Amino acid sequence: PSLQDPAVALVTPSAPITTPTHGGRAKCLQRLVRLDLPVPCTVALSFETVHEIAAGEMPDIAKILAQFDDGALLCVRPSSEDPDWGGPGAILNIGMNDARYVDLSDRIGHEAAASIYMRFVQAYAVHVARLDPDVFDEIAEDGQIGLGEAMRAYEDEAEEPFPQDPARQLSEVLRSMARAWEGTTARLLRQAKGAPMDAGLGLVVQEMALGLGQGECGSGVLQLVSSETGAPQITGRYLSQSQGREALASGAASLFLEKDPRGRSLEELAPEAFANLKEHAALMRRRLREEMQIEFTIENGRLHILDGVRVARSPQAAVRIAVSLAEDGIIPREEAVMRVEPRAISELLHRQVAPDAERDVIGFGVAASPGAATGKIVFSANEAQASAARGEPCILVRRETSPEDIRGMHASVAILTERGGMTSHAAVIGRGIGLPCVVGASRMSFHMRRKEVIGEKGRIFRAGDIITIDGTNGQVLKGAPAMVEASLDDAFRTLLDWADEKRDIGIRANADTPADAQTARNFMAEGIGLCRTEHMFFEADRITPMREMIFADDVEDRKATLAMLLPMQRADFTELFRIMQGLPVCIRLFDPPLHEFLPNDRAGLRDLAEALDLPVSDVTRRVESLGEYNPMLGLRGVRLGITVPEIYDMQARAIFEATVEASKDGEPVVPEVMIPLVSARREVELVRTRIDAVAAAVRNERGQDFDYRLGVMVETPRACLRAADIAHHAHFLSFGTNDLTQMTYGLSRDDAGRFMSEYVRLGVYPEDPFHVLDTEGVGELLQIGAERGRQSDPEITLSICGEHGGNPESIAFCREAGFDYVSCSPFRVPVARLAAAQLAI
Ligand code: PEP
Ligand code: MG
Repeated sequence: PSLQDPAVALVTPSAPITTPTHGGRAKCLQRLVRLDLPVPCTVALSFETVHEIAAGEMPDIAKILAQFDDGALLCVRPSSEDPDWGGPGAILNIGMNDARYVDLSDRIGHEAAASIYMRFVQAYAVHVARLDPDVFDEIAEDGQIGLGEAMRAYEDEAEEPFPQDPARQLSEVLRSMARAWEGTTARLLRQAKGAPMDAGLGLVVQEMALGLGQGECGSGVLQLVSSETGAPQITGRYLSQSQGREALASGAASLFLEKDPRGRSLEELAPEAFANLKEHAALMRRRLREEMQIEFTIENGRLHILDGVRVARSPQAAVRIAVSLAEDGIIPREEAVMRVEPRAISELLHRQVAPDAERDVIGFGVAASPGAATGKIVFSANEAQASAARGEPCILVRRETSPEDIRGMHASVAILTERGGMTSHAAVIGRGIGLPCVVGASRMSFHMRRKEVIGEKGRIFRAGDIITIDGTNGQVLKGAPAMVEASLDDAFRTLLDWADEKRDIGIRANADTPADAQTARNFMAEGIGLCRTEHMFFEADRITPMREMIFADDVEDRKATLAMLLPMQRADFTELFRIMQGLPVCIRLFDPPLHEFLPNDRAGLRDLAEALDLPVSDVTRRVESLGEYNPMLGLRGVRLGITVPEIYDMQARAIFEATVEASKDGEPVVPEVMIPLVSARREVELVRTRIDAVAAAVRNERGQDFDYRLGVMVETPRACLRAADIAHHAHFLSFGTNDLTQMTYGLSRDDAGRFMSEYVRLGVYPEDPFHVLDTEGVGELLQIGAERGRQSDPEITLSICGEHGGNPESIAFCREAGFDYVSCSPFRVPVARLAAAQLAI
């Protein structure tokens, strides 16, 4: 090989080696050579060369062998473009044969030489000659006496003696590795990890440092940070008399630094090599601009660096590593921001049981999705949805879950199953939607028909009982222990501060409760983009006045019952404003159909009749008369606001009185009031007139001035088309992509789950449009709405507040369309901040 021969290149500082032609490992080894690290002689074979090998065309093996010392043993390792794409396993000790066995026995002892030969015969037999692995596994267990036996077994199975010619050995190894890469299974596996169809494999041939023999010999790995936390911590494994990655696989490996009962530490055994290693690792970090794990071998006390790979890292460690590289001036801040995958960090963001809370453990299982949540036990998806509709947090308890349970899972705050492991349906979905989840709680007994779970010590829990799922450690707890809200550690906070410096689209949170608002604040959302108010009416002390209001015979009666709800709403808003002080809070007026607040079973109807002092038959008839064939397209949203205007009047009053209240001890609050489900300009005019009147009245009564902003939720196709008209009366337009998707497709958001997976599987829809914004259809409506809205008011504020708001692809779309902000669930705010910054860098 020469510099002009990239096909088979000796790895020197100036050799023509690149990641896209020779793979990441070859390139990294060249970088280590440039740093003058003690890397054994290495030759890199390009993707093209390896491809030719697979097709039967061998490069000049003698020329390759000529690069290495006479008698050297070699290893061959894969070098693909991205290490995650995998590749065939390394083959070590190539070149070992009877003659070298004799030489080596003299040099490093009989036992070490036999062990090396044995390893090679085994690896060659299994991976190159493709003989039965069981035969050789058994022989290997016999140790030294096994060598002769292994040779005989090889001869029996392969029907030829073990090949002695190093050139033949090497070419067979290269051929088998090249072919393994081109096999169908390997290709499918790497394509699943995002590799292109024609991804290439490079191979590196490297002289072995033996790791076995006299003096201190062995091999291991070292890195400077913890893979769990990313904090500085020298971590590694070292095993005397070992090769390759045996130290990692072996339970007998000894740790660095501390005395380890499993063996003496490297620091003790070879202090100089240990000191050098640490220095080399620090140099690699600085010059390769990355935390690297070093793979090394010690041969008779001398250190050899075989390889460096990017340190494996948890999401928490990824953040900390990126930040500390930037803080040390090794990479620019923008690069640190770019290096962290937004989706990966979402798992850092969960509510947890407070560390000092008392835990009454009633069972445990696999900790399948992190975070903790408290709720009432429900045993079916339907009950979960009913519970969510009542605004009662619930925990879905199932033997195991299946796709029919998904809607119930969405409606629950946590999931507990009797069966399953980390990749069971419940676990995968739970992680996907950020729901705490414990699966495989097999020591608890689940009685679905009796609606009971029996926990430790025979304690029985029934539907409606309150439990807590701790998906971080797999515990199931009785009752509601204290929780701590999710928060960001220092490194995460720093990274997001840097992200914010670059970000050019706002991020708000959808927050309905004080706890949500606090989370939004902790995650530095720039305000609340959507506060849904309806859940506030499901609380126990409110549902009865709410029902009385619905049944009121005339306006005066209705006003009287609403007057009972007013102070409660005022208190809700005052608290939200206080938590979010200084930041905008957008409150959406009442949206759902009224009958959702009415009982749907006999007992409920009887209770209501009692409360209203009416005959049950009367109440039943009136509940029935409120029923609609298609409630999501019926009397809800602004339509209710116009036909039963007292509800919005009350809410507006509560908002403005809370504004006055919360402005007393801080910056003036400027509330935003949003009208849902608009489809015509006149709707906005009518509501606006009344709200203006309420504002004037409150200013008058309180003798205090305040501002407010009125906005329209654009969530019907007609509102998008008529945005120019509607914008005349609005300070802002917020696109509700949940309803907009439902109405654009004519597809019920509550029923789509039945066939969605089939639709996606068949490629009818590329993705579930309720999860990933349909940029082609719904997206065009967003663009039309934004454009027309801006036509009549160039200053109008534009945003999106459907579930899509936190999704990186949707953020990209909204940014392109010139939106001012996106609003997403509080837990997705950090992900959104990072994703938005990456778009701007
Ligand atoms: C929407 O429709 O997108 C929305 C945000 O409102 P909701 O989900 O409450 O209907
Ligand atoms: Mg909506």
